[in-house]
Amino acid sequence: MTHPTQPEASHFIDGHYLEDAGGDRMEVIFAATGAVIARLHAATPAILDRAIDSALAAQAAWAALSGMERGRVLRRAADIMRARNRDLSVLETYDTGKPLQETLVADATSGADALEYFGSIAAGLTGAHIPLPGGDWAYTVREPLGVCAGIGAWNYPTQIACWKAAPALACGNAMVFKPSELTPLCALKLAEILVEAGAPPGLFNVVQGAGAVGSALTTDPRIAKVSLTGSVPTGRAVYAGAAEGIKHVTMELGGKSPLIVFDDARLEDAVGGAILGNFYSTGQICSNGTRVFVQRDLKEAFLERLRARLQDAVIGDPLDEATNVGPLVSEGQLESVLDYVDKGVAEGARLVCGGARLDRPGAWMTPAVFADVTDGMTIAREEIFGPVMSVLDFDDEDEVVARANATPYGLSAGVFTRDIQRGHRVIGRLQAGTCYLNSYNDAPVEVPFGGTKASGVGRENGHAAIAHYSQEKSVYVRMGAVEAPF
Ligand code: NAD
Repeated sequence: MTHPTQPEASHFIDGHYLEDAGGDRMEVIFAATGAVIARLHAATPAILDRAIDSALAAQAAWAALSGMERGRVLRRAADIMRARNRDLSVLETYDTGKPLQETLVADATSGADALEYFGSIAAGLTGAHIPLPGGDWAYTVREPLGVCAGIGAWNYPTQIACWKAAPALACGNAMVFKPSELTPLCALKLAEILVEAGAPPGLFNVVQGAGAVGSALTTDPRIAKVSLTGSVPTGRAVYAGAAEGIKHVTMELGGKSPLIVFDDARLEDAVGGAILGNFYSTGQICSNGTRVFVQRDLKEAFLERLRARLQDAVIGDPLDEATNVGPLVSEGQLESVLDYVDKGVAEGARLVCGGARLDRPGAWMTPAVFADVTDGMTIAREEIFGPVMSVLDFDDEDEVVARANATPYGLSAGVFTRDIQRGHRVIGRLQAGTCYLNSYNDAPVEVPFGGTKASGVGRENGHAAIAHYSQEKSVYVRMGAVEAPF
């Protein structure tokens, strides 16, 4: 019997599900049990062609609509997503293994926010009038780029698809979206919903596959822009592929972000922030503050509260709403994370709690906290992308700022302190695109999100995203005679 999560077909193109059994087989596995919940095929070149051509055809007509008309479709899609939040959340839980407790509030809801936000500002995307000497003037027109490719990571499949599609479509572009091969199901629902909301067939197509399909999309001359959410090595490959065609890019990549806790911080808030910034979504969040610098005097109290609060965490069936912590996304990811735990121990960090594989089917482990971590240890340098927190000691402000910045990454950073001047001063010195003061990992759609340094290029969300999905045409208007020198 097929599982209820099995989609009608692998791809969604031109308003319909479409199959091409000639593509490589893909199995979707529910990480909580190891069971196969869907069988799909990767896109063949013929499927990619259809997806891009139908997007090209849809884009021209879509761009000719007014922003108000485009926005209406997106806002309708937001309403549909909210009305179906529970079903979409259950699917997200099957796709990723994340607990329903999280997916009910953080995935389709966040996607709907993006559709509503960009749907609401679509009508206001206007150009400028620029007065010039002698009565001449210029005006600017904000134009779409064309067909954009979206390539997603596996940790937030609905959110990533919406965060890319909503600004792209609001600006008059079409999108061909390739979800992660590990979580291919959720983006198909967004494609269905957009069509139901009135988007022209072809405006948002979904094709399946792994890196080779992403690479083919990136280098296809019909694609004007590539927006990737993924790791830094993939970012390098995609950026290089896009460079050949001088394409626009948005790169939402990995991180190894610092979370700094000064000894005057509210302990419960700092511990709560560290929990959210390390263990939400079983630690599989790009912006996580995985290097937790705790001022020496607060260290033991911090570790004690952390250990106590982690003991209360419910690890179990992600479909049970009481569950706080689900499995890792896959067996491969679990093995990679456990490998880092072994390295932490081998390099001399103190394992305070967790870090053990659970003896049950699926990709399960207990959230790990390491103390006495030093800057040179592998677990303090590399992105682990799992539930492993490193606690590092520090003594003073200058020292912690220098150490926090001593990383090739620059995605996020957090500071906990009750000293308001110090909080802003330290945030001002941190090299990161998205910062939190006395909080961690909030991501409202109104606020630009993205990285500096190796963590990325461009911004998603907020008005900032508009600049990355449109281009300005400047038009000079001469009112008098043209005076040529000869
Ligand atoms: P990944 O880099 O392995 O894959 C990301 C996507 O790129 C997948 O869809 C994959 O199929 C595709 N891909 C792989 N090779 C490609 C190539 N050569 N050309 C084109 N596409 C290719 O990342 P992942 O394991 O799916 O996700 C985890 C990573 O994503 C972490 O590093 C995490 O920090 C990052 N991430 C970043 C953000 C952000 O907003 N900054 C958000 C979520 C995840």
